[in-house]
Amino acid sequence: MIIVLVGPPGAGKGTQARRIADKYGIPQLSTGDMFREKIASGDELGKKIKDIVESGNLVPSEITIQMIVERIKEPDCANGFLLDGFPRNVEQAEGLEKALSEAGKNLDAVVQLDVNDDELVERISGRFTCACCDEGYHDKFKKPAVEDTCDACGAEGQFKRRADDTPEKVKVRLDVYHDQTAPILAYYQSRNLLDQVDGMQDMDKVSEDISAVLDTIAAGDAPKRKNGSNPKI
Ligand code: ADP
Ligand code: ADP
Ligand code: ZN
Repeated sequence: MIIVLVGPPGAGKGTQARRIADKYGIPQLSTGDMFREKIASGDELGKKIKDIVESGNLVPSEITIQMIVERIKEPDCANGFLLDGFPRNVEQAEGLEKALSEAGKNLDAVVQLDVNDDELVERISGRFTCACCDEGYHDKFKKPAVEDTCDACGAEGQFKRRADDTPEKVKVRLDVYHDQTAPILAYYQSRNLLDQVDGMQDMDKVSEDISAVLDTIAAGDAPKRKNGSNPKI
């Protein structure tokens, strides 16, 4: 299966992407994670994009598309993959479509997580992750069972917060989402690929709703889609 997970910053894409990737045995390709790794490595590209990523704006599509096009040629993507945070504008959606058609592949579904802006600010303000295994946490919604210890890998004192998870940067990122990313919803709806999931629900219920959509597709059936009506953004 080839799946795109789309939603505003803090909607729960990373949280759900990890679960989907585990359940269906496909790699999770997060452009945000890939860019943060490049920045941490301090290579040429990392230096070039650092200020852009930390400001909350989008990295130029040419760079982003090339990075993903190369990544999906890797052997672990042969049986499908989950794109988390890509595409983020129509130019990237077109780049993906071209790359897939050249490889004789098709996108199976675009799952949109719908969450309102006030909730996003709260989710982002409380977000932290384990530096060792990337498990995601939240000050209020998902605390580790033992303080300062990762539930997933047991690492102690290894939690980190993102440089762009500040209230000012969140505002920029939300504006970027509404202006540049939201148009891809109509793009995918017109191709009958869009499935909307209520991302305001608790994490497990969101996972259940996504699985219901993906299980239908995995079984080779057509999911029920509201083709034609305007997507909720
Ligand atoms: P969020 O968790 O807020 O959705 P991500 O981790 O997906 O954020 O992305 C963090 C930052 O990385 C973005 O604000 C942007 O600067 C950059 N980025 C990630 N994906 C893309 C993309 N597809 N196109 C351009 N820039 C991107
Ligand atoms: P994204 O990748 O879309 O930016 P994350 O998956 O990192 O979003 O989630 C943002 C924050 O919100 C994290 O701290 C995560 O633990 C928390 N979170 C994710 N999904 C939910 C949910 N359904 N309800 C409450 N908090 C959530
Ligand atoms: Zn961990």
